[in-house]
Amino acid sequence: MRYSGPGHGRRAVVLGAGIVGVTAARALQREGFSVTIVDQGEPGRGCSYGNGGAISPDFCVPIAMPGMLRRVPKWLFDPNGPLVVRWSDLPSSAPWLMRWIRAGRLDQLDSLSNALRQLHATSYTRYQQLLGCRATGLIERTGQLYVWATNAPNATEALANEIRKKFDIETRALDRDEIREMDANLAPIFSRGLYFPDNGHTVNPLRLVQTIADMITSEGGVILKQRAIRFEFDERRARFLRCDGDLLEGDIFVVAAGIASKDFAKGLGDEVPLQAERGYHVMLPNPGVWPRVKVSNRDYMFGMTSMEHGVRIAGTVEIARADAPIDERRPRAMLKMAKRMYPKLNDDGAEFWMGCRPSTPDSLPVIDRSRAATNVIYAFGHGHTGLTGAPMTAEIVAAFAADIQPQIDPSPYSLKRFGRSCFARILG
Ligand SMILES: Cc1cc2nc3c(=O)[nH]c(=O)nc-3n(C[C@H](O)[C@H](O)[C@H](O)COP(=O)(O)OP(=O)(O)OC[C@H]3O[C@@H](n4cnc5c(N)ncnc54)[C@H](O)[C@@H]3O)c2cc1C
Repeated sequence: MRYSGPGHGRRAVVLGAGIVGVTAARALQREGFSVTIVDQGEPGRGCSYGNGGAISPDFCVPIAMPGMLRRVPKWLFDPNGPLVVRWSDLPSSAPWLMRWIRAGRLDQLDSLSNALRQLHATSYTRYQQLLGCRATGLIERTGQLYVWATNAPNATEALANEIRKKFDIETRALDRDEIREMDANLAPIFSRGLYFPDNGHTVNPLRLVQTIADMITSEGGVILKQRAIRFEFDERRARFLRCDGDLLEGDIFVVAAGIASKDFAKGLGDEVPLQAERGYHVMLPNPGVWPRVKVSNRDYMFGMTSMEHGVRIAGTVEIARADAPIDERRPRAMLKMAKRMYPKLNDDGAEFWMGCRPSTPDSLPVIDRSRAATNVIYAFGHGHTGLTGAPMTAEIVAAFAADIQPQIDPSPYSLKRFGRSCFARILG
């Protein structure tokens, strides 16, 4: 099918075939652009491969919250804790951590939570529109359940509840018995729960990316397996993306390369504080028991999702270099905790995986035009919620490319929040 729109057959080159790249490419195709995606691997094999699958329109609480500073020393010394900072990588991650702590100031909460709400609230509807009948059996809206073993909410949780109340988000507080009524297989170790009926999950994050990629190619889009190297310019516009195979000419370029986006932005003169917040998953192909809804253990910051190919335990944060060796203690600690949650869980054939969340300090992605070349659009930095934030990001990218007004105010996701670019500094 050919779409007539403001793109009118202009060429869009998208760097990265993760969930952000493919949703952006599909939105550009719908605007009439002819689309080429370039990825060094198969679509969906980056961070988008191994996430927890949560699609969370109600996720509006930033990761950095007031009171974080007090907890930093503990993180440095507990290799099995929910958040760990690798000592050897501390010098390179310290500036990001400082910004992260600053982003958790009380006076930032209103604007950050509002921007997250705008980005996420319509996530389900947008996936439904994008996928049409392919959504059936691929995404489910059965709700999500948070559980805690501790008796009373701490100050951070109380603040998070206030934020949700402000946005009229529907939640149901559950006691010990009600948690068991919702999922009888859960051990009676949790005293508090919070149920989000409007959230849900995909049963296979990889298949979700592949499905969108197939929709793109079946309507004339091209996916190239090549490594992108750098942009080449003609005056103030990027003209080519040089790859290890081809030199790709485009009218519009999108940088959606996950954690690697930092280097491409830097090459264009934009310094973006992007840190690999590494997370792990354990995939259990024959779990024996299946969580009835997606469940998050909020004390240890990991979740469990019933997927079409087994149960996935995913989460925790490790602040380290993207290419640092994996630390098997982390998925093993998650598995141990998961077995306490579901005592009948069978871990035969368990597989471990690590992926790099591309994270900014303030939990908001970067969706903006490059300052050096306005025909390069950035779409990266979605951190913990890239699956959830991708559809609205795609809308904003397509609006920028087509020079029309995005459906939500894009200013909270702009580069400006990080200060002046090195490009601007060079120009004086
Ligand atoms: C353990 C874990 C659990 C998570 N759970 C959830 C969840 O439940 N819900 C949610 O919404 N989010 C979740 N996330 C976050 C989510 O997975 C990410 O935000 C999202 O996948 C980022 O997508 P992306 O397209 O930006 O990056 P990626 O998926 O990493 O895609 C980037 C692509 O760019 C390509 N690329 C990079 N450099 C080059 C180059 N030079 N040339 C060519 N190609 C290149 C890569 O090969 C890759 O395919 C989780 C993350 C982790 C780690």
